[in-house]
This record gives sequence, C-alpha cells and structure tokens, in this order.
Amino acid sequence: SIILVIKSSEVEGMVMKRIVRAPAKINLGLDTPHAYARGVLEWKMVMISVDLADDLQIETTSANSHIQVFSDKGFLPEGNRNLAYQAARVFKHAAQIDDGITIHIQKRIPVSAGLGGGSSDAAAVLRTLNDMYQTNFSDRQLEELGLKIDSDVPYCVYGKPALVTGKGDQITPLQPLPACWLVIAKPGVSISTLKLLRSVKHDELSHPNIDALIAAIQTGNYEQMVANMGNALEAVAAKNHPEVNILKERMLKAGADGAQMSGSGPTVFGICRQLSRAKRVYNSISGFCREVYLVAPVGEGA
Ligand code: ATP
Repeated sequence: SIILVIKSSEVEGMVMKRIVRAPAKINLGLDTPHAYARGVLEWKMVMISVDLADDLQIETTSANSHIQVFSDKGFLPEGNRNLAYQAARVFKHAAQIDDGITIHIQKRIPVSAGLGGGSSDAAAVLRTLNDMYQTNFSDRQLEELGLKIDSDVPYCVYGKPALVTGKGDQITPLQPLPACWLVIAKPGVSISTLKLLRSVKHDELSHPNIDALIAAIQTGNYEQMVANMGNALEAVAAKNHPEVNILKERMLKAGADGAQMSGSGPTVFGICRQLSRAKRVYNSISGFCREVYLVAPVGEGA
C-alpha cells in the first residue's frame, strides 16, 4: 500500500514521486509435483506477506525516457538485472509510456533468502506505476505482467494470504490468517533458487498436505494451520545447509509453535500465537544469528 505521497505536481514537464513499501513473502506451504529436471515447474504454495519491507522511492519524469535503479546495498544489480528495473520496463511497454523512471531501493529484506524481496520490489513498481499513470490495469493484468519477471511476482502483486498454483500465476485468495507472530532468521549463507531447483532429485521431495493447510486457514484453526505447514524443498536445502535444521530446532526449543524454511531458503521462520513467546524466540535466536526479525503478517499488498 502507498504510505506517503511526497509530490504529485508539475515542475518542469511532469514529475511524480512516491514512496511505497514492498513487503517480504513467506511460504507457509510449498509443494511441487516433480523435480525441475522433469520439465516445467508447477507450484502449490500457501503464501503470506509480512511487515518486513523494502522502501522504494519511485520518480517519473517526462524530461527523458531512461529507467534507472539505485539501491543502498552495493551488491544489488542496478541495471536491467534488477527486478525493479524489469518491472518498470515491462510496465512502460504495456502502458505505452515513454517517461523516464528512477527507482531508489532501501533494502531491508535479506537477499537470496527465500523471502521474495526482488519479486516484491517488482510488484510494488507495477502497482505504483499503474496508480501514478492511472492506467487501470486490473490486478489480474498486473499479475500477468509480473509473471514475465519472476514466478513470485504475481503473488506479490496480490500480497495477501493466497494459494498460488501453476507457474506462480494462479492466485486463489484465502482468509486472513489467525492472529500470530513470526520470528524470521536468515543464516549467513545465501541460496540460489535456480541452483537448488536444479539439484533436486525427484524422490527427495516430500509432499506436505497443502489442502489440509488451506482448510485450517479457511476455518481460522491456528493449531491445524501450524501442524500442516510444510516445505518440499526444506530437506533438500538442509542437506547442504545444516543451519536450516539448527535454526528450526532452536526456535522450537525456545517455544515456537512451529518452525519452517521459507521458499528455497535458507531463511527459517518460527510461528507463535503469543507475542511474549515470539519475543522469547527472538531473543534466543538473536544471540546466534545476525539477521533476525520479529514481524506480523500483513493483509495489504505491495
Ligand atoms: P525467491 O524466493 O522469489 O526466489 P529470494 O528471496 O530467494 O526470492 P531475492 O532476494 O529476490 O531472492 O534475490 C534473488 C536474486 O535476484 C539475487 O541474485 C539478486 O541479486 C537479484 N535481484 C535483482 N533485483 C533485486 C531486488 N530488487 N532485490 C533483491 N534482489 C534482486
């Protein structure tokens, strides 16, 4: 959601500027019917967004037609390899807009972490440009544009609890989550999603019961929701990254109701019904892992 409109006025030519938030996503459930080697990947995922977010300043001008992306993290690509750049390019093409677009990203979401940071930045750019130019693309149209960038972008355009299927483009809204808190911990390693997917052997995949997870969310049953969380990629990632299981065990020992890897990892989250419990988990993990966040789910999209 747009949190602050700095300026929307005419200066030299038309200049518009907005600051928006792009929240991280988490997979409460992740399944895929077969390994990458067997062909096109299909997903069956339950996704939520949480209030750990990047801030994007998006400025447009009629004075030129360049796209520029800057970030406060030197290691992020700034040119057309940045997903925010790709979103601006896809939008300009679809909306037949010639203006220049400059994006400054203040990065808070850990990168290559299974938290969809790049996809969320791209989704925020699509939604915000749609709003700034009043192009009136529907959510469905924005999701289709998003799929050209990455399989997680359609979900991030939607940004509320959803079942995500197909290549990431089929979004089925779910009920808001039962009240809960999440402790998110990113170990000091990064995992390339593509590399991990390429390494998966078909018989290594364990398939969580996503339908039972959905039923629990739809009926607001917190205990069943936690009991049916699952991620088919977790065991595969944990083979090379023992941090995943170590973090999970620590979180459960500190009192989390459940703990799981998000996306293709290595980030692990612990889920708690009580804030006091979540604080205890946060404290016990922060002495051990540098990037730890205590967050709540959000109902709003990018
Ligand atoms: P997913 O779970 O969707 O695979 P992730 O959280 O594992 O995502 P990202 O943080 O989105 O991974 O980054 C994946 C890759 O995308 C990194 O190599 C990163 O350099 C690149 N990237 C491009 N643009 C961005 C961006 N705006 N923010 C973060 N990473 C970006």
